[in-house]
Amino acid sequence: MRYVGFEVYEKSMHPVGSSVVCMARDVDETLIICVSQGGAAESLGFTGQDLGDGRLRVPLTHENACVLRRLFPFTAPVRGLRRGRSFGVGDRLGIATPGHIRVFEHYDVFPVFAQQSIRELNLTGRTYDDVLDAVSFAVFQEGFTQGFGADGDHLKTAQDVEYALSLGFSMITLDCSDYIKPEGTQALSLSPGDKDKYLNKTFTLGEGLSLSFSEKELLHCIGVYADALAFVRDIYTRFFTDARYAADFEISIDETSTPTSPLQHFFVAKELTDAGVSFATLAPRFCGAFQKGIDYRGDLPQFEAEIRVHGVIARHFGYKLSIHSGSDKFSVFPSIGRETRGVFHIKTAGTNWLEAMRVVAQVDPGLYREVHHYARAVFEEASAYYQVTPDLSRIPEVEALTDAEVPGLLDHPDARQLIHISYGLILNKKNPDGSYTFKDRLYRLWKSHEGLYAQALAAHIEKHIRLLGVQKR
Ligand SMILES: [Zn+2]
Repeated sequence: MRYVGFEVYEKSMHPVGSSVVCMARDVDETLIICVSQGGAAESLGFTGQDLGDGRLRVPLTHENACVLRRLFPFTAPVRGLRRGRSFGVGDRLGIATPGHIRVFEHYDVFPVFAQQSIRELNLTGRTYDDVLDAVSFAVFQEGFTQGFGADGDHLKTAQDVEYALSLGFSMITLDCSDYIKPEGTQALSLSPGDKDKYLNKTFTLGEGLSLSFSEKELLHCIGVYADALAFVRDIYTRFFTDARYAADFEISIDETSTPTSPLQHFFVAKELTDAGVSFATLAPRFCGAFQKGIDYRGDLPQFEAEIRVHGVIARHFGYKLSIHSGSDKFSVFPSIGRETRGVFHIKTAGTNWLEAMRVVAQVDPGLYREVHHYARAVFEEASAYYQVTPDLSRIPEVEALTDAEVPGLLDHPDARQLIHISYGLILNKKNPDGSYTFKDRLYRLWKSHEGLYAQALAAHIEKHIRLLGVQKR
């Protein structure tokens, strides 16, 4: 809609005193317009350019994002993991949030719109300020006032935790993998305290589940997890007992080479709870393969049996199960929804990038072919960042496909994985003159087809939520 000489986003009109703040498009640029009713432009704290007639043109800088979050608290992240169900989507490119909002405004699921790992930041050349600012602007643009979270995902050091918290991130996912010893590691001996606590005992968890430890199993649990537990306790004491920070805490023990057994899950949860560590969610490593961007691969009945037990353990201690690499795991969503009794945290990350590439394939098959070629050429390098096993020989030759067939590649599991893992290399590829080979062209395309992208992404994420058993409200 037209307003004060600009094409503005209708849902972004927000009054502050006698002024109106809204988001507008000006050719290729999105910006904030601050309009004062009474003559001279009122800045409200924003830094911008006076356009006359009481209008201030406000660029989307970090400083202005901070002002926006102060003026409109709904644009700042809040804690929400303790409430019912939650879903982390992340916004790898900084353009996905409008599409995500189209889904979450209709479902009773707390969304975590900002959710990036340090690996993703490095591969996309972004910072946490940038990630959070993009989400704040999008939430304002779409008038989404229901609240959202921001997750410093898979953080491995105190320094990174502090970085995310200092920016106001509302959730920290602590990745313990550097401290988890390989399967088979055993403690040398058991302390009298450990023997007393765990041996010759049956732990009754309710719902028909009870667990007990043999001496060997206990030696094994301590051997594998003792250092990780010390790491969690240290981070908790440093950051989560401090009133300055108010964030949800997730324990991630999923990045291991072998699945987390129910006994190991119980041991970790009991040790942390007994040490007074309070956390909202815990991510075990499940059986089977949760590879990025494709459906579950593994033994479905076994998965169902194990998630049932993991669910009981989580309920016993009072936290939620967190399921990582959740994108496209359509065959296991019904059992996840059922066995968690609809109380879960799911994370997807790269699927918003894949949907963005689907839009490229639809709108500009030629550009998609170029990107696809490049992804194939750098596959070896890209596969160093992610654990995936695509078979490139199964991917149809992109040159042999008609324009109309090109988007179909984004439904092909091997092609999805190929594109999924190469995002960093694709975005960072430069020409000899130093300009980006793909990045600027891709962002221009996404900007001029933002409605199409929002629609594609919303449909894709909605499919996840419905299969998890959540009803539209
Ligand atoms: Zn994970």
